[in-house]
Amino acid sequence: MTVLDLLFPKSCLGCGKKACYFCAECRLKIGKIYQICPVCGKPSPFGRTHRFCLTKFSLEGLFSFFVYGGIIRSAIHKLKYKLVTDLEEEFWRLIKDEIERKEPNIIFLRQFMEKEKPIVVPIPLHWYKQRKRGFNQSSLFGKRTACLFDLSFSDKILVREKNTVSQTKLTQKERQENVKGIFCLSPNIHNSLFNILLVDDVWTTGSTMKEAAGVLKKAGVKKVWGITIAR
Ligand SMILES: [Zn+2]
Ligand SMILES: [Zn+2]
Repeated sequence: MTVLDLLFPKSCLGCGKKACYFCAECRLKIGKIYQICPVCGKPSPFGRTHRFCLTKFSLEGLFSFFVYGGIIRSAIHKLKYKLVTDLEEEFWRLIKDEIERKEPNIIFLRQFMEKEKPIVVPIPLHWYKQRKRGFNQSSLFGKRTACLFDLSFSDKILVREKNTVSQTKLTQKERQENVKGIFCLSPNIHNSLFNILLVDDVWTTGSTMKEAAGVLKKAGVKKVWGITIAR
């Protein structure tokens, strides 16, 4: 126990019990996730895009670790606004525990990373938002993912040109409109013959990640997958 733990005792984000942010009981309540095809949203083994859904500009697949709800939702929210500073470390341990599981989807994910060696690219924030917040949550998650799977990381490939209004109250159709044309590729990127793993914290309707994938593929990127903490 450190001085910080004494001054600011940790309490579970679910039940408030002291000691840690995710107590064993509340961890059991995290819903079991199934992977989906990012194009049609229906279940798909390993999160691969169905062959009949795949287009030239779509994502090749999507992987999410947790169901967005309960303690996961509250942790993501707190991290986004840096309300709790030592939460990230514990949250990351939770993700690492997931990655070590011998579950078919996870085994596929690990093999996929080894074989395809994609460059990890976070969904960028608009520079104004990034400056205001001081960091990009997806970037932190992306760096850790890259490090864990021994992949390269770049937050210089994709640029967010436009700031968008909050998506939370918009319908799926409005979200699609809202994100149209918000990304561009950094002008210094010439070699597009690589694969990319796009990283974001939450997949809701997927409109942002789909837009980003489209921009990358139009620029010649061969394959684009997505990975999110929750969905
Ligand atoms: Zn708890
Ligand atoms: Zn599909």
